[in-house]
Order: sequence, then C-alpha cells, then structure tokens
Amino acid sequence: MTEERRTACRDDWEAHQLTMPEPIPPPARVWTSDVMDEIRRGYVPHIMDEKWFIFMEGDRLFLHRSWTGLGVYEATFTAADGGFVIGSAVVTGDRTQYKRSSDQDESLILETIITGHLLREPPSASEPADKSPHLRWELSVPNIPREMFFPQVVEAAGPELSLVVGDITELPVDAIVNAANSTLLGGGGVDGAIHRAAGPELLEHCRTLGGCETGQAKITPGFDLAARWVIHTVGPVWGGGGLGEPELLASCYRESLARADEVGVATVAFPGISTGVYGYPIEAAAAIAVETVRATRTNVTEVRFVAFNQATYDAYSALL
Ligand code: ADP
Repeated sequence: MTEERRTACRDDWEAHQLTMPEPIPPPARVWTSDVMDEIRRGYVPHIMDEKWFIFMEGDRLFLHRSWTGLGVYEATFTAADGGFVIGSAVVTGDRTQYKRSSDQDESLILETIITGHLLREPPSASEPADKSPHLRWELSVPNIPREMFFPQVVEAAGPELSLVVGDITELPVDAIVNAANSTLLGGGGVDGAIHRAAGPELLEHCRTLGGCETGQAKITPGFDLAARWVIHTVGPVWGGGGLGEPELLASCYRESLARADEVGVATVAFPGISTGVYGYPIEAAAAIAVETVRATRTNVTEVRFVAFNQATYDAYSALL
C-alpha cells in the first residue's frame, strides 16, 4: 500500500465557525468515489503561507483560511449519478473579514480550491483568465506544485529573503511594494490590484503626491489592505537594456527599502517590478532584485519576493 496523507480533522488547525452564511450555486461537477476519498482527507497547511485548512465532517466539507482560521466555505456532498455532487454550498457573508466576489465566481473559487488543494489538478482552460485579484490568486495556485508554497529562507544576515506564491495584496506584511507608473494614479496589473484592495482612499492620497520619477519610490498608507504601508515605485520600461534599465530597476529596490526604513517597518513584499507590461525579462529582473536587496543596508528584517506566475517563481527560485 502506498503511503497516504492523514485525514484532516477540525482540531488540526485553527477553525472558527463560518458566520453569516450566504448560499452560492454549487459547482456542477460530479466527483467519482475515488476522488471523493481524496476530498475526505482534507488538507492541513504546513505553514501560515498556505491559504487553506480543509476538513470534512460527515458529508460536509469545511474550508478555512489558514492565516486566521476564518470559516469561508462549507459544501455538502450528496450521492448522484454514480458519484457525488455538491448539493449545497455557502460562503461567509461577513464582508469585514472576507472580500466576497460574485456568486458565480465564489462557486468557481470553491471548486478551484478543491481541485487545486485536495486533488492537485491544474485549472481548466475554460476558467476565466482575468477576474478579481482575489480570484486570480486562487486560479494561479493549482498551476504550481504544493512544495512551492513553502517559503525558501536563504539568508541569515541582512533581511531574510523568501519567495512566496500568491497575490501581494493579501500578504500580512508591514509594507507591500507597488509597481506603479509615474502618475501614481493607478493602472493595470499589480497596481490595479493594489488600488482595488486598498480602496478609493489610496487614489485620493496618491493624487497629492505629484507623481514619481522612474527609479524613485514614495510611500502611502495601505488603507484597506492588510499591509500598513504601500511603497509605490516606478520601474523602467524595458527598451532593450541600453537605456539604463538595470540601474533604474536596482534603484527601485534601494529606494523602496529606504522608504521602508523611514517608517521603520520590518517586513516588505516586492512584486517583480517592471516584469509585467513594462516588459523587463524576468530572469534579468529577478537577478537585479535579489542582488540589490542583498547589497542594500536596511533595517528591514524580512523581504518577500512574490511570484504571481510560474515564470516569476522559476526565475526567483533559481536564484534563492
Ligand atoms: P510593470 O508595469 O512594472 O511591468 P505589472 O503590474 O504589469 O507591472 O507587473 C509586475 C509584476 O507583478 C508581474 O510579474 C505580474 O505578474 C505581477 N503581478 C500582477 N498582479 C499581481 C498581484 N496581485 N500580486 C503579485 N504580483 C502581481
């Protein structure tokens, strides 16, 4: 017999009862008996950076956030069509604790967590490519093997560097860095995600800053974010490498750490600055990020590089 993971139960992790349940459409999928056995085993996170603690009691599956123990979903399975279906499902309606997407999206997220965390299936091509940042995080997860959720601590001196997978807007760090544009008035990519998650006050505040030059950084409160601060830095647009891009990109990391030191924070998370629409090749950009952070004197004790896709993960993990 092959070694099987132990079946999770309620006492394995922190689990607070789901409050203000709101029904969502049950995912339509039929699960076979074998798959159902896998689902029954649930999932216990090994570290806080994994997002879900999942266990089953009777025919009911409970999905809790690992960071807080918050009960987010409950799904009840029933036998049907030679297998099992989710007969009913709820999501917490407590919007002070959980940023709720539309009913359809919540249903899809629930299915994706089950397939990604419990069955380790890749997402299907039919899943929407660009939804809320929250949903995009969830959809990005099943692409990546479970081992990759473990942050890789690599240094004792200077800030501790780690690599995490996920949505930077959800990280419980002191400051997150935004790959902003020079207007500081919001944009797409991570910038849009941060503004959406922080709420409209962030934009109001940014309007008072008079923009920011490439290679520089400015700091604002995080407003509705878990992070207390947002450090907005403007990366260079990749123009082939001969336009001072490497130095400007390094400057983004140095200046961001300088802003972090000015307010005295300990933990900072960086996305891959300039590696989205600004087109900086990810391997080169990751090398500059890691080297610059290592070489910068700072009181920041922990820097997390955040990978939002596989290429970013690969580039950083080769370096760390
Ligand atoms: P830039 O204009 O500096 O290239 P982008 O926002 O287009 O900025 O992309 C920067 C990086 O941020 C890319 O690697 C992209 O995959 C990543 N990214 C996008 N959204 C998020 C997010 N919510 N959390 C973390 N990283 C993100």
